Amino acid sequence: MSRAVSTDDLVAWIRAFRDAVQQHKDELTRLDSEIGDADHGSNMARGLDAVVAKLDPAPATPAELFKTVGMTLVSSVGGASGPLYGTFFLRMGPALASDHADAAALGAALRAGVDGVVARGKAELGDKTMIDALAPALDAWDTAVTDGADPAGAARAAAEAAARGRDATEPLVARKGRASYLGERSAGHLDPGATSATLLLEALRDTLAGGA
Ligand code: ADP
Ligand code: MG
Repeated sequence: MSRAVSTDDLVAWIRAFRDAVQQHKDELTRLDSEIGDADHGSNMARGLDAVVAKLDPAPATPAELFKTVGMTLVSSVGGASGPLYGTFFLRMGPALASDHADAAALGAALRAGVDGVVARGKAELGDKTMIDALAPALDAWDTAVTDGADPAGAARAAAEAAARGRDATEPLVARKGRASYLGERSAGHLDPGATSATLLLEALRDTLAGGA
């Protein structure tokens, strides 16, 4: 199967991300209570509820969808994660011209999103942030595409890499965001943002696997 990803698929992805964040809200907040201020689960859940409230009627194009998602997250989520996730989606929209994207086109749009997060947050790999899940995920996506993967296959590879990146944040000392105030004491805990970013990629994997 090498089907293209439609606007409806992308809308289903955003809904699935909201559902996953709702399901894992307490876990995200617990992780943020260990190395932050215990609001990551509620921040993301509130923002994504506001997003989903704006998806009916469904946007007609990816550009329209991601503009709505990004602007809503920027305006409704406090803290670091709102502007960062907001930037991710605001950068994805203009990068995805087609509403029947193949794996390479969707990968390029996801990469534009990640590049936007890096430009805004200045985090590097190993700083114990969402970038530790997102960057390896995008590299795995590109490798899968080079090997001939369809969007579902690329999303599977990306979700696996994101989860490995998330797990690898545990021993790290945070160098960005609130957790960095803890210095060495931030080690020994998973990063909340890397955990929610893994949910983002897993939601895409599940949406594309289900043929939504
Ligand atoms: P806040 O830290 O303002 O309370 P959240 O708790 O919602 O915001 O989000 C925290 C997450 O944001 C962290 O776990 C980390 O992954 C991510 N984060 C923080 N600063 C940065 C940054 N500069 N670049 C990338 N991600 C960041
Ligand atoms: Mg927080």
